[in-house]
Amino acid sequence: MSQLGGQPVLILKEGAERTTGKSAQRNNILAAKTIAEAIRSSLGPRGMDKMLVDSFGDVTITNDGATILKEIDVEHPAAKMLVEVAKAQDEEVGDGTTSSVILAGELLKRAEKLLDQKIHPTVITEGFRKASSKALEILDSMAMPIDPKDKKMLKKAARTSMSSKIISEYSDLVSDIVVDACLAVSEEIDGNIHVDLDRIQIQKKDGAALDETQFISGIILDKEIVNSGMEKRVEEAKILLISSAIEVEKTEFDAKLQITSPDQITAFLDQEQKMLEDLADKIAATGANVVICQKGIDDMAQHFLVKKGISAIRRVKKSDLDKLSKATGATIFSNLDDMNAEGLGYAGIVEERKIMNENWTFIEKCKHPKSVVVFIRGGTELVVDEADRSIHDALSVVKDCIEEPSIVGGGGAPELEVAKELRLYAETLQGREQLAVKVFADSLEIIPKTLAQNAGFDQIEILMKVRAAHGKGLKFAGLDLNSNEVVDDMVEADVIEPVNVKKQAIKSASECAQMILRIDDVIAGVGGGA
Ligand code: ADP
Repeated sequence: MSQLGGQPVLILKEGAERTTGKSAQRNNILAAKTIAEAIRSSLGPRGMDKMLVDSFGDVTITNDGATILKEIDVEHPAAKMLVEVAKAQDEEVGDGTTSSVILAGELLKRAEKLLDQKIHPTVITEGFRKASSKALEILDSMAMPIDPKDKKMLKKAARTSMSSKIISEYSDLVSDIVVDACLAVSEEIDGNIHVDLDRIQIQKKDGAALDETQFISGIILDKEIVNSGMEKRVEEAKILLISSAIEVEKTEFDAKLQITSPDQITAFLDQEQKMLEDLADKIAATGANVVICQKGIDDMAQHFLVKKGISAIRRVKKSDLDKLSKATGATIFSNLDDMNAEGLGYAGIVEERKIMNENWTFIEKCKHPKSVVVFIRGGTELVVDEADRSIHDALSVVKDCIEEPSIVGGGGAPELEVAKELRLYAETLQGREQLAVKVFADSLEIIPKTLAQNAGFDQIEILMKVRAAHGKGLKFAGLDLNSNEVVDDMVEADVIEPVNVKKQAIKSASECAQMILRIDDVIAGVGGGA
């Protein structure tokens, strides 16, 4: 409320709350720091998992930053901004979510100290902006190009991304699967390689060990072979896809038949049988030995298909039929009169298998499939779900490496190298901005420090050791948590990450910190369209 000539003027809606200036800023920083602190313990290969229980009592166990933040119901608006950072990171590059949030929290924590020294927020944000764009340049210049088809290298990146997850015990097997899946759907368009992750279906089922997770160069249908007389395993399958029903066409109107003798009934039924037999003949004439149909298959038609040695599946979803077409190269026929041999697809094996108590059909060993499956198994649903999240991250990392084949070492190496270079850069700047750039550099060290702390090391000791190595020009020196040692080259230690993940983490953390620092007024309870 303001006063105008003694008259109170109502500016904000009744019930709206306002905090301004310093207290608004400190409040926001505190909220963001709290969120970052909460997920710090989950960073890195020795990070801990979080158990999240929702209001229905459903449990999620994870150490994926984006998932933790998505699941916890954050109320505070500034804390929500941090949740957005994780989301943006997940959407842009699919990994590095925990790092980006921890970094944003640390930037704000250290910015607060500058605010205490009466440095104006706009000076800090300008310093952060400059530091962030310089950091991206430094990362680009230190990154190493790789061959996007180098399976060994891609596997290392996938393994690094999985090293902090439940699945890490099987990372050898799973990284093979992830790399095979990405390479299978990669395509060269205008000289650039693209990996469309939408073409990699994730199917999951509990009740088996994690190491039974498989890559299927084809598709899995949760359907069985329709008739017990049909072959349950077909090798060298020639597949016919049909979107209409395999039955005698019904008339659109109800028709009445005037039948006067039993012979007429027999003749009528014989006629229908003949039509279905013709249909089966036509299908067989295409050379197909497997028919997959979106609609139903008449019992009598099934009988004739059995006689022709053709296996069939019915009532497959339209979306699955499309994937089958991409995987096997088959044309989808909507009109049974149009079927031909050219439209058949190929799969090395079509087989019905029992998964838990259900019969599923695997269509695999397709040639050049444009749609593939990663079939995740695990002891319980909780394990399968967490494996799914880790595989999602690993797929994204491999996609990043293929599309932009440039990597850096992990284990805190890039953060420390960027910090070192930023300190040199700060010297070239004037006045208080220099302080903000130095603070930015110091903040980056939170990553190696946290990795060390979560593994039970003395963080300061590790930091000093790695810093010293960088001082000697070893740009990829870092803390290797496989050997539990500070090493000169994390790339040689096989801990690598796409440079894009690191760039995005710095970019989004810095943008979020700047945005929060610029706020000096929080007005709650405004508008809302009422
Ligand atoms: P994020 O969600 O940020 O990817 P993670 O919990 O997956 O968080 O941890 C990623 C960090 O762990 C990266 O800094 C990465 O370099 C580091 N890391 C992964 N494997 C190792 C390892 N073997 N030794 C040291 N650091 C590792």
